Amino acid sequence: MKVDMDKLVSLCKRRGFIFQSSEIYGGLSACWDYGPLGVELKRNIKEMWWRDMVRERDDMVGLDSSVLMHRAVWTASGHEEGFSDPLMECKVCHRRWRADDTKDGRCPDCGGELTEPRMFNLMFKTFFGPVEEEAAVIYLRPETAQGIFVNFANVVDTARKKLPFGIAQIGKAFRNEITTGNFIFRCREFEMMEIEFFVKPDTAGEWFSYWLEERQNWYIKLGINKENLRLHQHGEDELAHYARVCYDIDYLFPMGWSELEGIADRGDFDLAQHAKHSGKDLSYFDPDSGERFLPYVIEPSAGVDRAALAFLVDAYDEEPDKNEIRVLLRLHPDLAPVKVAVLPLSRNEALVPMAKDVYASMRKCFTAQYDDAQSIGRRYRRQDEIGTPLAVTIDFQSLEDNAVTIRERDSMKQIRVPVAELTRTLELKLLGEPLEVLPPGGKYWLGFE
Ligand code: ATP
Repeated sequence: MKVDMDKLVSLCKRRGFIFQSSEIYGGLSACWDYGPLGVELKRNIKEMWWRDMVRERDDMVGLDSSVLMHRAVWTASGHEEGFSDPLMECKVCHRRWRADDTKDGRCPDCGGELTEPRMFNLMFKTFFGPVEEEAAVIYLRPETAQGIFVNFANVVDTARKKLPFGIAQIGKAFRNEITTGNFIFRCREFEMMEIEFFVKPDTAGEWFSYWLEERQNWYIKLGINKENLRLHQHGEDELAHYARVCYDIDYLFPMGWSELEGIADRGDFDLAQHAKHSGKDLSYFDPDSGERFLPYVIEPSAGVDRAALAFLVDAYDEEPDKNEIRVLLRLHPDLAPVKVAVLPLSRNEALVPMAKDVYASMRKCFTAQYDDAQSIGRRYRRQDEIGTPLAVTIDFQSLEDNAVTIRERDSMKQIRVPVAELTRTLELKLLGEPLEVLPPGGKYWLGFE
């Protein structure tokens, strides 16, 4: 089911996923703080991206460049001059709008007349060092990509990679966005996961198609419904100054189809610009052909926060449950903030030592949570609502047969397994093995016909 944004924002706040920044002071718009569960979700998204895009590939290396860079970087990249949105101001209510968010020159809020568009630079400016003067102006990076381009020669010299290969980076970016809203969709401070994939110019088309496919599959593999993804090709009027071709992977967010990730063929624009402005040779020597040239670049550029929003929207579900509604997040186990909940049937003292023992061994292997407050039914619901795929229950019989119950979030089915088999069983279930496959000594419990 498609959740509306208000419901999701409320769940995220109530359960500790995401809070408004500086909330006690009235909030800072388009800045968000990730709470105890949100930080786990976000880390998992980044870890899965790093695992799939860097560690499991032979043709990718990682980088972590600094947020602050020489001002010349942004002159060369074109951001100082070109990274701006045309902005129109309402003559009546004085709200500012991105030109592409308005129709017929009228204010979408009050219908007032709008001024002519003026360019508004999206980079946050600050001063480097103690003196606040023009010569000390520096920017917070609006993308991580430039940190990759300016390190291209360093990586080629040290990583012993031959084309085609990519450099991947995850990090914060800052944009003084004009139109914000829609929760974490468009923030002024956010995190990006970017790849610059360097290729021989005559193979750029093939690699572009490859990355278009590969990146859509990544979202699908982590649980996004295929039907909620589509491609949108940028027309001539939408293309950024650096791009030869650009596609957005759009997701069907609650407010409609919007960009989730951008994939651009940047040609040799960036390396050529930095070579020109720095005076350094950034060409690549191809040992196979003996040629020296500037590689072309394919850039899959994704936002961590936007991905988190898409994963949450896609996972949200409600279903009737007796006289109530069961709310659950059907998050992929790799993304779920808590993998395993350990729940003693009650707070009865006799159960505590065994439950604590099980918890201690579980948390060595999984992100686990121990919960003994309120009835077992309510605790299952609480875990469903934060997306915990599996819960382990310790009851009085466990004290006798040394076995516990595993309950699955999505089906609510249960199996009973010996404690000695528990870790291995949970590992397999989290990897996708059906619950019906029993370990030695295991048996079906409630919920199976
Ligand atoms: P939009 O037009 O939606 O602001 P964009 O085209 O400017 O996005 P890109 O420059 O292509 O975005 O950035 C690549 C990715 O970074 C986007 O697909 C998105 O996932 C993420 N991103 C960009 N701007 C923001 C933002 N302000 N807040 C959160 N994520 C962002």
